[in-house]
Amino acid sequence: MEAIFKAQRLFFLSQQTKPFEFRYQQLENLRNAIMKHQDDILKALQKDLHKSTFEAYATEIGYTLKSIRFVQKRLKSWMKTKKVKTPSFQLLTSSYIQPEPKGQVLLIGPFNYPFQLVIEPLIGAMAAGNTVMIKPSEFTPSVANVIEKIISETFDENYIKVFQGGVEVNQALLELPFNHIFFTGSTKVGQIIYELASKKLIPVTLELGGKSPTIIDETANLKVTARRIIYGKFLNAGQTCIAPDYVYVHKLIQKPFEKILLETLAEFYPDYESMTHIVSDQHVERLKKLIDKKKVIHGGNITDKHIEPIILSNVTWKDAVMQDEIFGPILPILTFETLDEVIDVLQNKDQPLALYMFSNNKKNIKRVFNELSFGNGAINDTIMQVVNPHLPFGGIGMSGFGQYHGKASFDVFSHMKTYINHSVKLDPPIAYPPYTKKKEQFIKKVLK
Ligand code: NAD
Repeated sequence: MEAIFKAQRLFFLSQQTKPFEFRYQQLENLRNAIMKHQDDILKALQKDLHKSTFEAYATEIGYTLKSIRFVQKRLKSWMKTKKVKTPSFQLLTSSYIQPEPKGQVLLIGPFNYPFQLVIEPLIGAMAAGNTVMIKPSEFTPSVANVIEKIISETFDENYIKVFQGGVEVNQALLELPFNHIFFTGSTKVGQIIYELASKKLIPVTLELGGKSPTIIDETANLKVTARRIIYGKFLNAGQTCIAPDYVYVHKLIQKPFEKILLETLAEFYPDYESMTHIVSDQHVERLKKLIDKKKVIHGGNITDKHIEPIILSNVTWKDAVMQDEIFGPILPILTFETLDEVIDVLQNKDQPLALYMFSNNKKNIKRVFNELSFGNGAINDTIMQVVNPHLPFGGIGMSGFGQYHGKASFDVFSHMKTYINHSVKLDPPIAYPPYTKKKEQFIKKVLK
């Protein structure tokens, strides 16, 4: 590990990762390798998570292919040194911002979108001209093997290298003096990463999770609301960082909403063949403990790592399911009577990664979006905010910090180096010592 770290340092210092042509070509190589290994990726996702071909292609393979094209098209302009304005009293001076690669980057991935959540930050790190070490999740070993195969076949290890393993491998990697650490995973592990990185003042991006609320007021279009919530919640069996964690519905429409929800579930999942499985027995056991049988209005059958979508009604904040991020196919329904009540409750909770609001009332929507703080969200939709590369993606507070996707991915792995260029043709002594009364008067005129 240390030897490769040193070799990557030398490679970085050789300046080879910096030219536009290199970055563009390496992204092209990555794209071709993903295309070539599509079937291997699909098979691995099926093996580790029982992910359907549709979900695997849409959320992991197609997603990253599209992302590479987006970046390639704009990279040249992002890389340019930009001239900015200079205050008029700085005579004969021009000012610049020059993006430079941070240097050596470490990427640590989670299990839920094990391919996409490693490749998407990798695209940004490569675009910005860095060398990269990658640690995929050990809970999806088939996907980790494919990632390692793709990377080792496509790139020199002095440029990009995969290290597989569990906590001990992460701990060894975290001893190395990287220039940036990009972590996607739980808040608990995020805290550990932040603490370790702080010893060497390594900048970190923490893409974490949490309980993302979904508010449905009495003006919402219930049919569309039910469809979009079911889609967002049961995609990847609820193992999505921005999944609607729970639903907060106006008491007046609770019953009709629940009825439509159950009808839509039956329509979307005539059988559960296309549903992703829970990643491990340990997580199945964790989820079982969150199910209060008295509150179940749908589902409950559990076969090995498959959990049939579970809807819980009349849930309160005291229930086990409301204590932590659920990260599984369980949807609790809470009710409210006034928006004030919802806003008051949520203002006193951790800022979530995502927030969704289903409503046709502009005033209500405006209130929620102005008065509540969250990483990203949607009005009358779930999940789809993440698809738009023009929207930076990330959390706030306990759901993490730092953003990526599209240009934000380039920015997060770049350092914006700034400088001025001052002509030597004129050099008035006005700002130099010895300081006289006249000079003081002048400076007071200029700086006020
Ligand atoms: P996790 O935190 O358990 O693991 C993530 C990575 O951290 C793994 O590679 C693992 O090997 C490593 N790790 C685990 N313990 C460690 C330790 N003590 N020291 C150092 N490294 C350690 O997360 P997970 O279970 O794989 O993923 C689920 C979590 O990730 C959920 O909370 C979810 O919300 C979050 N998530 C967030 C995003 C996002 O973009 N914000 C995306 C996906 C998942």
